[in-house]
Amino acid sequence: MNKYDVIVVCAGISGLLAALTLSKHGKKVLVLERSEYVGGNCNSYVVDGFQVDTGAHALTHLLVGPLKMLMDNYFDYVPVFENYGHYYIRTKDRLQKVPSHLKDFVTYNILPKKDRLVLSQGITKALTLSTFGVDLSKQSVYDSLPHNLSKDTYDFVNAISFFLSGKSMKDTSVHRMLTGSSFIRDSVTQEQFETIVGPRNTPQYTESILQSILHSNIRTSLGLKLSGILEASIPIKSTVPNPLASISRFVINSNNAQAQGYPRKGLKAVLNAVLYSLPETVETQTHCEVKRNLTNEGKVTGVETEDQAYYSDIVIYTGFAKNLPDIVEDLPVSYVNDLAGIVQTKSLTIWLGLDRKMD
Ligand SMILES: Cc1cc2nc3c(=O)[nH]c(=O)nc-3n(C[C@H](O)[C@H](O)[C@H](O)COP(=O)(O)OP(=O)(O)OC[C@H]3O[C@@H](n4cnc5c(N)ncnc54)[C@H](O)[C@@H]3O)c2cc1C
Repeated sequence: MNKYDVIVVCAGISGLLAALTLSKHGKKVLVLERSEYVGGNCNSYVVDGFQVDTGAHALTHLLVGPLKMLMDNYFDYVPVFENYGHYYIRTKDRLQKVPSHLKDFVTYNILPKKDRLVLSQGITKALTLSTFGVDLSKQSVYDSLPHNLSKDTYDFVNAISFFLSGKSMKDTSVHRMLTGSSFIRDSVTQEQFETIVGPRNTPQYTESILQSILHSNIRTSLGLKLSGILEASIPIKSTVPNPLASISRFVINSNNAQAQGYPRKGLKAVLNAVLYSLPETVETQTHCEVKRNLTNEGKVTGVETEDQAYYSDIVIYTGFAKNLPDIVEDLPVSYVNDLAGIVQTKSLTIWLGLDRKMD
């Protein structure tokens, strides 16, 4: 019986990055993918001579955040990213840059001046609340706005909501708007990470990474550990988030443009960098749909496809969360109900192939 340290179900970019990280910490990893190719939505293909990306186009958090940490620590080479530039909204007679910081908002003259001030105040208030720990994930953008704004302003906020979440402002949370626009961070820095899990290259490091991966809610876990560190009065001056950081990000937002990029030669360049960096201890099998996990006395022992079983004490599933109950039978009912509440948004990206450079 061939036993692996870890089985990763799904070879999208999430599964491949999990496999990359674990294998570079010495784990023997098996990746199982149901389709004929790896990469999932992180891929590119050619239509009429034009390369088209399947999913992502703007990669965010390139300066700080999980992707940056993964690339710095585990990639054998890092793809080249082109500056993504600005986002625009098309109005009746022109293309208008989407405001990305306070000054942009104040001078954004396609909206009435009064509304611009109200929006700026609203964002500052939301940032302050969020910085001090108020949960804004249940509050809709629409409910947080005063109800005497112009139709243009509602249309504008609605367009931004659809752009960031695929849903209207009534169905988009304030939290989603703030993280999507990079005004607040939903990730920890390398320094914070190391304070929590210990410095790299120690045996404890790998185990603590596994623990943090296995934790049901990594953000809560990290948050608790951070507050635990605070209580223990360990000097962590440089690791505590600066409460004014997100507000200053909104006022200046100078890093936001560089924090987003498009990989030169397309999304496949990112996939190729990951595949190139995978050590030989990673085995990948395509055409292999995992049907269910195997357990013994409540503990996972592996997974099963149509015709074969694979064994490991650790299984990582990186497919669509809503489908998890198809594979794991004995999940808590409340969790299954939560998963059933996830709504998959439909998204369409239109790529225009230009025969000359646009001004
Ligand atoms: C149109 C569009 C635009 C996007 N734009 C952006 C963007 O600009 N920026 C950005 O950061 N992100 C963007 N995204 C999101 C980004 O592409 C995804 O978040 C990311 O690619 C998801 O990777 P994943 O590995 O989690 O999942 P997926 O890519 O969905 O991979 C999951 C893999 O699991 C396999 N699988 C599922 N079930 C099983 C099973 N039971 N057994 C074996 N294999 C299984 C699937 O075949 C698939 O290959 C966009 C997505 C879309 C669709």
